[in-house]
Amino acid sequence: MMMARSAVAKKKSRSALAVALPRELLVDIVGILAASSPQPMADLCNLRSTCKDMYGACKERHVGRRLAMEKERGMKWRDTVAYFAMLKNLADAGNPEACFTLGLTLVLARHNEQQGLACLEQAAAGGHKTAAYVLGMLLYTLKDRRDVAKRYIGQVEGDLMRKVATEKTNRECTKYRQLAVNAVREVAWKGMENGGQSGLVPEEEYRCTNARCGVPEDWADYDVFCGDDCRIRHECVQFFGQVSRYTTLTIQF
Ligand SMILES: [Zn+2]
Repeated sequence: MMMARSAVAKKKSRSALAVALPRELLVDIVGILAASSPQPMADLCNLRSTCKDMYGACKERHVGRRLAMEKERGMKWRDTVAYFAMLKNLADAGNPEACFTLGLTLVLARHNEQQGLACLEQAAAGGHKTAAYVLGMLLYTLKDRRDVAKRYIGQVEGDLMRKVATEKTNRECTKYRQLAVNAVREVAWKGMENGGQSGLVPEEEYRCTNARCGVPEDWADYDVFCGDDCRIRHECVQFFGQVSRYTTLTIQF
């Protein structure tokens, strides 16, 4: 009883720190904690109960956007309902990792492509490169979205930052492909538990006539391509081939 009364008192009171700091700075500090804590949800929960200013700061959109959601992955297995509630809240706040996971879940496990792609687009706009990679793969399967797909793969590779703009490598794609495959595996497992689908229609074989296209760079673990199309086709073959074990994605070139 004493504990409860004390908690209520704290919620109504104002801590010295909160009084001393301007609101914006307080929200910034809480945002840094949310981004760097190994257990952000528990820390925010504790902080929220200290005083009404902290309570308000913890609920700010900026804090939700920065929260290190990947640190809370374990919650998915412990409490699925709480996990998806958190995912939805953080995605609403514009958290890129939450937008990515929710988007992938909507596309793969809930068969809601429109909303799923919108979430993935929001994640990619927030700088989430795995989301940009997945968008590149998914949108390339839609004939009228291929230019957009190639731009997403260009975002993954940082093509615009390169000095030699004509060189098209898949150096970054190899890294983000692995992260994307892992994410699909996690979502598809969960989806299949809920009666989601499985299987994949493989794409037809494509071969460029340029003998130097798709050849590994000397001493490197990536390839060099003659253009955007060859690079994205290569990635599609690799990506859809690897996720075929976990999910159904229809792809037609
Ligand atoms: Zn080529």
